[in-house]
Amino acid sequence: MDLESIECVSSSDGLDEDEIHQHHNTLHPHPHPHQHHHDFSKPRSNATNNTTITGPTAIAPATSVHELLECPVCTNSMYPPIHQCHNGHTLCSTCKTRVHNRCPTCRQELGDIRCLALEKVAESLELPCKYYSLGCPEIFPYYSKLKHESVCNFRPYNCPYAGSECSVVGDIPFLVSHLRDDHKVDMHTGCTFNHRYVKSNPREVENATWMLTVFHCFGQYFCLHFEAFQLGMAPVYMAFLRFMGDENEARNYSYSLEVGANGRKLIWEGTPRSIRDSHRKVRDSHDGLIIQRNMALFFSGGDRKELKLRVTGRIWKEQQNPDAGVCIPNLCS
Ligand SMILES: [Zn+2]
Ligand SMILES: [Zn+2]
Ligand SMILES: [Zn+2]
Ligand SMILES: [Zn+2]
Repeated sequence: MDLESIECVSSSDGLDEDEIHQHHNTLHPHPHPHQHHHDFSKPRSNATNNTTITGPTAIAPATSVHELLECPVCTNSMYPPIHQCHNGHTLCSTCKTRVHNRCPTCRQELGDIRCLALEKVAESLELPCKYYSLGCPEIFPYYSKLKHESVCNFRPYNCPYAGSECSVVGDIPFLVSHLRDDHKVDMHTGCTFNHRYVKSNPREVENATWMLTVFHCFGQYFCLHFEAFQLGMAPVYMAFLRFMGDENEARNYSYSLEVGANGRKLIWEGTPRSIRDSHRKVRDSHDGLIIQRNMALFFSGGDRKELKLRVTGRIWKEQQNPDAGVCIPNLCS
């Protein structure tokens, strides 16, 4: 979707404060938002990594096993097959495919030599989950650590701001302040809403994203997305809600969206998707209220030249149901 082609709409025409103007999607007030205080990129800050010398007798290991298992090129942890050159310089398998058969350390021809000794050493290690500083207490054999980390409940969330190339990650409180301070999203308290989405030249636009709205209710945060895209041959608008938390918690909530005018009405009721699912994935699974453009312009009233769509909605907490299934239907099929 070509988000670059969207033009900014001036908001200086005195509209009521509930109106949400279609905005330039690449607009990012802080193109380089400062890093979160947690350093998520480096898995090596393990408890085993000795950086504190406590006394004259304490010995800092010259090179820890963990450093040996760090690829000298990309600094990621190495997993089998671990490669080495004739001079013994090691390299991860991803980097090996990138270096055109030259050892990046000594520039000699790389060949195809496995470093079995290092692979065996890795096998013997037990390491804490890399999100231990965020609260994960688990310890894993080296080779199952990665698998766990990809689904660890303590792993940070990606910024839910739609369509942007925002690479900020963090926990929910951090992301809420990031959305408010860096993306300037609309923050609302309460579980009902009534928003008007405005666009002056709706027929000229194929893809558009409106400013995200964040709702705070039941002690949780929810993101309301609204956007225009091409569904097959038909231009449509879509509104959906995402839950700022994990899938299993999202299931405790439901929401409804309603749009209509002139005696017609479209209603959507569903479970918010977790922000673990990308905004794009939710959109592509059509998991929300979809309004054909012609109908949206009909609902907008007037001469159908301008989109003025009023979307109302509500979020509520579901009764706890211990029998609720744990499986998510595959909405993408
Ligand atoms: Zn590498
Ligand atoms: Zn070498
Ligand atoms: Zn973990
Ligand atoms: Zn962001």
